[in-house]
Amino acid sequence: MAELKTPVKGISRRSFLKTTAAVAGTAAVAGTTTVALAANDGTADVDEHEVVCVCGCNCQGNCSMVATVREGKMVNIRSNENLPYPSYERICMRGFSHANRMYDFNRVLYPMKRKTWSLEEPHVENRGTDEWERLSWDEAIQLVADTLTYNTENYGVRSNCVLVSAGNSFAAYGGLIAGLGFANAFGFQGLDVCLDYGDLVGIGEVTGSGWDFNQRNMAGDYRYAKTILIWDTNPPNSQPHSWHFCMEAKDAGANLVVIDPTYTIAAQQATKWVPIKPGTDPALGMAMLNAIIDNEWYDLDFMREKTCAPLLVREDNGHFLRATDFDEAGPAELPEYPFFGTLLLQGVKAGKVPTLEETAHYVVWDADKNAWGLINEVANPAMEGSFEVNGVKVTTAWSLFKEHMAACTPEWAEGITEVPADTIVELARMYAQDAPSTIYAGYHLYDNCEEMGMTWACLAALTGNIGKRGASIGHLGKSKPTINMAGLAFPAGLSGLNDELPWLHLPEVLETGKLKGEDFPVRLLYNIGANPVGSYAAQKKTIEEVLPQIPCIVTNDMEFSETCEYSDIVLPCAHYFEYDWIQASSHTPFLYMANKVADPIGEAKEDVEIFRAIAERMDNEAAKAFYAKSNEEMMRMVVDTEKGEPLGINLDNLKEKGVLADRDENWIHWEEQRWPTLSGRLEFYVENPGARIDIGKPIDKEFYHMPTYHTPFEAYDESEQHDKYPLYHYCERTRWHLHTQYNHAPVLRELDPEPYLRMNPVDAEARGIVEGDYVEAYNDRGHCVCKAKFDMGVRPGMVSSPKGWHRGAYVAGSYQELTCDHLNVLHMNTSFDDTLVEVRKYEGEVK
Ligand code: SF4
Repeated sequence: MAELKTPVKGISRRSFLKTTAAVAGTAAVAGTTTVALAANDGTADVDEHEVVCVCGCNCQGNCSMVATVREGKMVNIRSNENLPYPSYERICMRGFSHANRMYDFNRVLYPMKRKTWSLEEPHVENRGTDEWERLSWDEAIQLVADTLTYNTENYGVRSNCVLVSAGNSFAAYGGLIAGLGFANAFGFQGLDVCLDYGDLVGIGEVTGSGWDFNQRNMAGDYRYAKTILIWDTNPPNSQPHSWHFCMEAKDAGANLVVIDPTYTIAAQQATKWVPIKPGTDPALGMAMLNAIIDNEWYDLDFMREKTCAPLLVREDNGHFLRATDFDEAGPAELPEYPFFGTLLLQGVKAGKVPTLEETAHYVVWDADKNAWGLINEVANPAMEGSFEVNGVKVTTAWSLFKEHMAACTPEWAEGITEVPADTIVELARMYAQDAPSTIYAGYHLYDNCEEMGMTWACLAALTGNIGKRGASIGHLGKSKPTINMAGLAFPAGLSGLNDELPWLHLPEVLETGKLKGEDFPVRLLYNIGANPVGSYAAQKKTIEEVLPQIPCIVTNDMEFSETCEYSDIVLPCAHYFEYDWIQASSHTPFLYMANKVADPIGEAKEDVEIFRAIAERMDNEAAKAFYAKSNEEMMRMVVDTEKGEPLGINLDNLKEKGVLADRDENWIHWEEQRWPTLSGRLEFYVENPGARIDIGKPIDKEFYHMPTYHTPFEAYDESEQHDKYPLYHYCERTRWHLHTQYNHAPVLRELDPEPYLRMNPVDAEARGIVEGDYVEAYNDRGHCVCKAKFDMGVRPGMVSSPKGWHRGAYVAGSYQELTCDHLNVLHMNTSFDDTLVEVRKYEGEVK
């Protein structure tokens, strides 16, 4: 019998701030109990022991930890001092707060259904206001299985859409990967999150790594750089576990340069801060390329041997000339870049670097013989010039690139970026000549993000700052080569997520009922550790226009997120300290056994257990067979691989040691200096650019061959919106949140009690705002009301909101109501910072 419950009733907008203040210094067990964090003084006869575990959130620091468990409850946490490489021993304030997070009042304790929802009559209009009724696990699983089955039979299996993210855990076994496996096992439609991929697409076009995060050297290698450009990121907040390597480089005399419109913590600790006009960074990078070319600071030998510079580009179709073009069948059809799609998880596909033999058909111009020849046979290929080969007009890629970049002068960029031309030239010199150089890339969250990534990769390609000690670009080190993540994420023989539906395209699909011209009904949205209401742009539109078009929303989460609030069925997930799992993301050179610390609270279950129970109720033999494996068998499938065995990597060893090193602590990516492009070289000229995901919309291929500046979508002075909304709105990552997680931990809220809007006093005074006033930021998409915080480190003309705060923490609205959900058909990345707003003093009541 279902019992009526409203588990977070009474926790109204902003009231949770008071609640957390009241329990500051303790960890509140959802419901009634509290656990003191004070050390046991030894006088009480208590059961206390320690467990080695891992922080499983997707900052991907994977800090190894030791948890203290007292009377079955986790009461304390510290970093693990027994690591194979001590330089990776770290923990941050978020990590210290896990005892709070585990026993947070906002944990989901048991399966729930919205009272007026049913498969037959979903009453979507009641979402957000309905009461909740408690279900048994048996009732909940049957309801979900029945809905999935009904949709499959009546609308097709892909009417069940699955959105997977890292809210429950970012892991090799468990959480996010398990969610992908669930979608694949049944062949449900995967939804692409459209987060953080934009500049990866650009880097991936040049390096052939696709839209993969795993492009740079291991963080420890940063210590060997002589110049580090911290660009579009603030690692002391977002990736504190890596920042100390940058500081070590600085202490050893390196240039540590921060390029950011605001005076971040990283900027405060750098040797140089380059304040740049928001959204214009690609122009700065292009002008640096121009200066490198103009001053001949490029590495011609590297370019000749390792890049596409000497390859000949056909005038007729823009592709590289291959000897095979002259075969009877003519030029072969080429895949579009970035062509590796979901390579992060498909492992095997990702590493495909062609051999010299496989690339022997590329044609160059032999400068000694003044005739064409094959790349592997010509000792002195011409680097520049136009030629004719068998009637085909061609030009070297290097000539095209030089010509293309000629207009991007430092003076041109100064007019766009407001960075002085001589500063741009000095940055270019520093990067090219004070080498080895590393670009610690963040996420350029503007519509021109793809060209940002491409520009970073071109800087590395022209100067040889890649594949070497102290020289790399990108976000994270390479994902683990020894383990079989694909085994869990893409169950063998079952369907894949290759044909993904981008979240940003979902509104159009719902509106038209079509995807790529075909009928496409969306009947169910299953969020697995995903919080699209809280984390995605244009929140008001999501709540009021997108979600109401979907009859059923199911969410697996450990916390009662904003998305849970707008769901119909909520299933409680275990915190990653409540079950055994394996961590293996790419920021550290380790694999971890993440041991269970304590029993799940309430009736929470780990994701895999939930999927296994659903599979038992579904008519899908292949999925049933996959989920017939025990957790132990699944973990063995991931860890016990042929590649790992010679290195002593297997589950038994992992269980015994807790942490295993799987590579050198300063590991260099692409050290062999061959890349997974078609030519095996860095291709700063992209012969066949394509969209990240094919949704049937064409892109302008001519535009994307080489980096070409275009303004952001909305956030630029000449945009239509600018007269009405003159302030650039930026979302900053803080050290107190990880996306929308860690919202309620009392120890964090003591230090960071409520959301705010940072603004320059000049802009505030012009609007009659004094420090501490509550203000309303607004645009056509929505508004948010919070405190104003004056900060001279924020450029006049822009304001900045901390990311991650839940809606309930604002007096009204949310910063995510302001953000831009424009779909760029090439990169399909959310341009969160491509947003304009106006701000006024808030005259309403603040409760
Ligand atoms: S949030 Fe990141 S840096 Fe902090 S403890 Fe967890 S993994 Fe480490």
